[in-house]
Amino acid sequence: TEPWIPLLADQLPPSTLAWDLPSRLKASTDYAWFSPVLWERLRDRVADAVVTPTTEEELDIAVGFAVEHRVPLTVRGGGTGNYGQAVPLAGGLVLDMSRLDRVLEIIPGSIRCQAGARLGALEKISREHGQELRMFPSTYKKATIGGFVQGGSGGIGSITWGTLWDDLVSSVRGKTATQPVKTFEAQDAAVMPYLHSYGLLGIVTELTVRLAPKTDWDQWVISFDRFETALRFAQAIAETTTLAKRLISLHESPIAGYFTPLYLDSARSVVLLEIAADHRLPFEAEVKRAGGHIAIHWESERYHHGVGISDFSWNHTTLWARKFSPQMTYLQARFDWHRVQEQIALLKRQYPEVLIHLEMMKSDGQLVASGLPLLPFIDEGRLNRIIQFCRDQGIGIANPHTWLLDEGGRTPPWDLFWPIKQKHDPFHLLNPGKVGPLSTSVTAG
Ligand code: FAD
Repeated sequence: TEPWIPLLADQLPPSTLAWDLPSRLKASTDYAWFSPVLWERLRDRVADAVVTPTTEEELDIAVGFAVEHRVPLTVRGGGTGNYGQAVPLAGGLVLDMSRLDRVLEIIPGSIRCQAGARLGALEKISREHGQELRMFPSTYKKATIGGFVQGGSGGIGSITWGTLWDDLVSSVRGKTATQPVKTFEAQDAAVMPYLHSYGLLGIVTELTVRLAPKTDWDQWVISFDRFETALRFAQAIAETTTLAKRLISLHESPIAGYFTPLYLDSARSVVLLEIAADHRLPFEAEVKRAGGHIAIHWESERYHHGVGISDFSWNHTTLWARKFSPQMTYLQARFDWHRVQEQIALLKRQYPEVLIHLEMMKSDGQLVASGLPLLPFIDEGRLNRIIQFCRDQGIGIANPHTWLLDEGGRTPPWDLFWPIKQKHDPFHLLNPGKVGPLSTSVTAG
C-alpha cells in the first residue's frame, strides 16, 4: 500500500475509495487487448487506488489530494477505449467517473449532463423527449459521454452527422489538476482542443451535446454473393439523399459468419443498415435494384430492445472476430471514396489475409469509406509493413496499436493544446505517458 492511501482514506467516504487488488486491476484495464502489441506492453500497469466519487465535492477532494501529493491521476469512464487510453501507465489514482451520471437539462436540440452518464441512458432519455443522440459508438450501453468525447471518434449516426469534430459538442466543463483545483469551461469552437484528448487537459465533469429529432429506425442485413456488389450498394445508399440513415456497415465474406447470434451465411458479404422506417419501401426498391438478399429485417418497434444490428458494427466487429479467432486484430483505415474498390484490390493482392470491414460515414461534410479491416496477428513487423503498404497506396491509417495520442488517429490542434496543458496540468499528473514529449520517462518503466 502506498503511504498516501490512508491519508486519502481519511478524507473520503469508505465506499468511494478502493485499493484491493481486484478493484485496482478492474480499474486499470480497457480494451487494449484488441491489440496484441498494446496488450504485451500495458497489461502489467496497475493503479494504486481507485476513487469513484458520487458528488462533485468528493471529486474535488480526490483531485486536490492528488495534486498536493503529486499522485498521477487517470480519469476513467466506462473503460471501453481500445488503445489503452484509460490504462494508468504510471500507477497512482484512477478516477472512475461512472457515478457522476446525472442528466442536467434536456432542451430542443441539446442535452447537458454529467460526464459519467452512459450514452445508452442519454439516447433513451432523449428519445423519451422526441429527440435522439446524433452519433454514438457501438459501445453505447457501457461507454460514458465523457469517455466518448475524450477517447472516441465516430459511430452510429456518423453517416449523417459526421464525427466528434463535426459540431457535436457545444460545451465542456471540468476541473484542473492545479493547486487549488479550478473549474474551466469551453464553448462551441473552443471545445476543439478537448476532443479526443485522453483526459490530458482536465477532468471533464459536464458536457452539452447536440441532439437530432427522433426517428424510428428499421434494422437490416442485406447480403450479396460478391463483395464488389455489396460495396457499390453501400456507397449508393450512402450517397442517396432521399433515405434517412444511421448506419451503413459493410463486411466481406466470411466476416458475417463471426456474428453467431445472427445466423448469417459466411459465404456472403453483408451490409448492416439502420434506415428510417418511413423509407422502408424506397429502401426495399434499392435492395432489389442492387440484387441484394434481405437476410434480416427488424422493424422499428424492436430498436434498442435486446440485440441490435449495431452490436456487430464499428469495433464490435473486431470483438466478434476475436471471439471466433483470438489471433484476430484490426486496423483503422480511411479509403478514398472514389478509389475504394481499387485500393482494396491492391491491398488484398499483397496481403490476402486482410478482411475488409468498412463503415460509411461523413467527416467534415464529405463521405468517407472508413474501415476497420481485420487481420490475423502474425508479428509486429508484418503489421507495420501492412500499415506502410496502405499508406503508400494512399489509404490513410490511424494506428490503433499505440497508446500515444500523437501517433494514433486524429490529433488535437497542438498550438491550442499545449498552452491549456500547461495551465490545467502544470505537474503533468493527468494520464501520464500518453503524449509524445511527456511520454518517455513513463513508458520506459
Ligand atoms: P474510457 O475508455 O473510460 O476512456 C477513454 C479516454 O477518455 C481515456 O483516455 C480516459 O482517460 C478519458 N476520459 C474518460 N472520462 C473522462 C472524463 N470525464 N474527463 C476526462 N477524461 C476522461 N469508439 C468510437 O469512437 N466508435 C465506435 O463505434 C467504437 N466502438 C467500439 C466497440 C468496441 C467493442 C470497443 C471495445 C471499443 C469501441 N470504441 C469505439 C472505443 C470506445 O468504446 C469509445 O470511444 C467509448 O466512447 C469510450 O468511452 P468510455 O466511457 O468507455 O471511455
